[in-house]
This record gives sequence, C-alpha cells and structure tokens, in this order.
Amino acid sequence: MPRLVIIGSGPAGLTAAIYAARANLSPLLIEGWQSGGQLTTTTEVENYPGFSKGIMGPELMKEMRGQAARFGTEFLTGDVSAVDLSTRPFRLTIDGERAIEAEALILATGASPIRLGLPNEQRLTGYGVSTCATCDGYFFRGQDVVIVGGGDSAVEEATFLTKFARTVTVVHRRDKLRASKIMQDRAMRNEKISFAWNSVVEDILGKDLVTGVRLKNIVTGTSTDLPCAGVFIAIGHRPNTDLVKGQLDMDEHGYILTSRGAHTTVPGVFAAGDVQDAKYRQAITAAGSGCMAAIDAERFLESALHPL
Ligand code: NAP
Repeated sequence: MPRLVIIGSGPAGLTAAIYAARANLSPLLIEGWQSGGQLTTTTEVENYPGFSKGIMGPELMKEMRGQAARFGTEFLTGDVSAVDLSTRPFRLTIDGERAIEAEALILATGASPIRLGLPNEQRLTGYGVSTCATCDGYFFRGQDVVIVGGGDSAVEEATFLTKFARTVTVVHRRDKLRASKIMQDRAMRNEKISFAWNSVVEDILGKDLVTGVRLKNIVTGTSTDLPCAGVFIAIGHRPNTDLVKGQLDMDEHGYILTSRGAHTTVPGVFAAGDVQDAKYRQAITAAGSGCMAAIDAERFLESALHPL
C-alpha cells in the first residue's frame, strides 16, 4: 500500500495509527519531540471510557502508543518543519532536513494553550505560572491562586482548583462570563472563589517564584497588586495549523475544516482531533475522530490503487 503518514501523537494521531496499522497500511507516525500531546501534561483522567478507576494521562498515552506499535506503526521522532500539499505524493520536511513523501496524510497536530504574552509569564512558567490546572493544581495546596479567563475552561478549572487552593480569584476582562450557566452557578456558589471583573493581568510578580499579579481595572484604569502563589492561564487554545496555512480551508480561528468525516479540502489529506475541533476538545472525541480519519484514509488509498 502507498504510504500513510500521520502527524501528531495525541489520542487522535495514535488512534488513527492503531486503525491504520490494523488495516495493514504500515503507517508512519511523526511524533514530535514532546510525544503524547496534551494528555501528557495531565494527571488523572477520569472520563476516558474503559478505566473505571481513572488513569493517569501519561500512562494512557503510553498504552495507546504501545497499542499502535504492536500492530506495526513506525514512529519517527522529530518536528515537521514544512509540508507541501500542492501535489501528490505530499512532501514533508522533518527538522529542516529529512524529506518524506506521503500518498495520504492525517493531520493530528492538536492545539496549544494561548498565553497572555507577558515577559514574566514565560520566565515564571513552571515556577507558579501554569496553563494546566489539572496538572499543577496539586502544587498549590492551602495557597492563594489566580485564574485568568471567563470561558468554560477558566470557570471549570477555578472550581477544580478549590480542591487544593485556599482561595481562587478569577480574573476576567469583562463583567460577564462566557462560561455555560451551570458552571457559572457552581463557581458563584463556591465560597473559595471570587471574581476580579473588568480586569487584566498587567504583570506577573516574583523573582524566582510567583508572588502576585498586577491587575489593571480597564474601566477605572487603576492598578492593584494581588498576592498569590499561582497563576493559571485559561484563555483558550490555538490550533497547530501553521504548517498547512493557505493550503487547506480553515475557519476564522485557524481550525481545519473537515467534511464527510475527516476529509479536508485537499483529497488525501485528513484531519483529526483538536486541530479540527474547537468545540469538544476531549481525549475521547479526538480518539473517535482519529478512527474516522484512518478509515477515510484507507478508503482513499484503496480507491487510488483500484479506481472504479
Ligand atoms: P473560550 O471559550 O475561547 O474562552 C476564553 C476566555 O478567555 C474568554 O472569556 C475570553 O474573554 C478570555 N480571553 C481570551 N483572550 C484573552 C486575553 N488575551 N486576555 C484575557 N482574557 C482573554 O476558551 P475555553 O474556555 O478554553 O473554551 C474553549 C471551548 O472548549 C469552548 O467551546 C468551551 O465551551 C469548551 N470547553 C468545555 C468544557 C466543558 O464542557 N466541560 C470545559 C472547557 C472548555 P472574552 O469572554 O471577553 O472573550
């Protein structure tokens, strides 16, 4: 069979690999230098079906990778630096040098958390600044933390953080949350959670560890320092689609548009997981779409080999 290449090693890419390998497509999966996707930065996963007692994120990804390898997936560690979808076979460049050809391609490159863009945010990441409450909330037992954002992620994570933190302040740039009503109600009822409305984080304070945030009220223009040990950024995600920008149709936020299952606008190119899903963004939905992409790719390759 002609070569199927999968880019991405989260639940979408690995599920696609399991299905493609079991269909004897001998897929090549390019897994990037940080293999396993966002779940490797998570602790306990309680909502992935099949694990009644939950499973740690990195363990789940290790199992998925092992399952893909068992059926003959070939893995290549490296970052894809360029993709040319203008002719088939598609051409991929790995780490700026090695070239690979693909008759069919599954894009499962996921999405990355958006950051505030403050100089101290980068410097203090891992030292009090985090984009993953589920991963790092545990480290802030009995301490005061801040979470930035007003969507479902921020409000859900604020509630989660109250399991550990003494207080949680939600900093939101407007006076209304975007989060769903049920999550808002839950957070509003939680006496550990308070809200800094119409506020933005101007700076993150601290030399070696976070000691606070400087907040600016955008209505009054006043700035105040709020002491805290942790700052969680939950202002959304950006799909990792730079590689194929201008080559495939995307929505206004850069998510790849798919139709008829996992088909993109270029025949032979399929997309699965968070790279094409701004709405559900769950491990199980990513895995499901990875399965769809593999089945669609198999049918595409089959019909390319044996046209009617
Ligand atoms: P989101 O819905 O895009 O919300 C992002 C929030 O961050 C918004 O409140 C936005 O403010 C704020 N924001 C954006 N850029 C900012 C900046 N530079 N500075 C300060 N604030 C900024 O993202 P999300 O909460 O990650 O959710 C993404 C999707 O996943 C949504 O569809 C959501 O429903 C879904 N989700 C669902 C669940 C669940 O059902 N359990 C959990 C998490 C996420 P504005 O409101 O002013 O725009």
